[in-house]
Amino acid sequence: MMDIGFIGLGNMGFPMARRLMNAGHHVVAYDTRPEVLAQLVALGAAAAVSPLDVASKVETVMSSLPTPAIVRAVALGPDGLLNGTKIKRFIEMSTTGSQTAIEVGQALRERGIQMIDSPVSGGVNGAVNGTLAVMVSAPQQDFDLLKPVLDIIGKVFFVGEKPGLAQTMKLVNNYLSATALAVTSEAMSVGAKAGLDPALMISVINAGSGRNSASQDKFPKSILPGTFDFGFTTALMFKDLLLFKQEADYMHVPTTIAPEVHALWQATHDHEGADSDFTAVAKEVERRVGISLRAKS
Ligand code: NAD
Repeated sequence: MMDIGFIGLGNMGFPMARRLMNAGHHVVAYDTRPEVLAQLVALGAAAAVSPLDVASKVETVMSSLPTPAIVRAVALGPDGLLNGTKIKRFIEMSTTGSQTAIEVGQALRERGIQMIDSPVSGGVNGAVNGTLAVMVSAPQQDFDLLKPVLDIIGKVFFVGEKPGLAQTMKLVNNYLSATALAVTSEAMSVGAKAGLDPALMISVINAGSGRNSASQDKFPKSILPGTFDFGFTTALMFKDLLLFKQEADYMHVPTTIAPEVHALWQATHDHEGADSDFTAVAKEVERRVGISLRAKS
């Protein structure tokens, strides 16, 4: 069993850290929100006072943080991992884009710390149940060493040794997830305006060729019942769409659909707020069309 540092105990990080602890690992945790830190300590974790403190207590540090800027600060800032006395490897599971992964990885490597780029997909349910898709780009030997730990949080895919490659993989996935939700909301709005019951439409779509991650997961769980609680904020999905655009630009790949999807999320961000659940994109469509996408009964 290992001592593992864990930074960022949010929607994803908290259940991942709890799974590591349930598997017998000892977790040294840090989050800027004292209340979530206290909750994990109540389950048996040790608390640290900064990323630097974590990195001076354990060799292996994991993180699940909101934005590229926060990942940079946690890794390279004055109180960051970089100056830790014990840290040897950093398993970074946030969605940051390939450029941040490359730059942070390079800066850490100069201090003898290996970054293992490991973004995840599969939502809060996946984090709770250990069924995330874990995408890893890292030197093969580091991957081999850490795979047993990553197996605890999900299905692990080694995507290559090239730094940042796993981030590109993750953003390809999230662009598809965002687009499926946007286009499903739009398609459903036409049927709803014609008088079809949204719940019936979802049942038909899921038995037919239109089914996708939005029709199978997001609509039944959060949109039809009107709970809008899937567990991923509009701000984070909006960030991922911006990051996807950057990946496309780095590769000189023109995108025609992405700007439309991005504009819909921009409007959701403006009208529903950064902290709204990303399924609130359906509310934006409802407002525009003047219909309801909630189940009738
Ligand atoms: P979240 O906002 O719920 O959690 C982030 C946590 O980081 C919070 O607890 C916050 O207090 C903490 N934090 C912020 N700044 C910090 C700092 N400087 N030092 C320490 N802790 C700090 O976000 P989330 O939904 O858990 O997502 C985390 C990452 O995983 C993001 O990059 C997101 O894009 C990605 N992701 C999320 C999901 C999802 O469904 N929620 C799925 C896959 C990937």
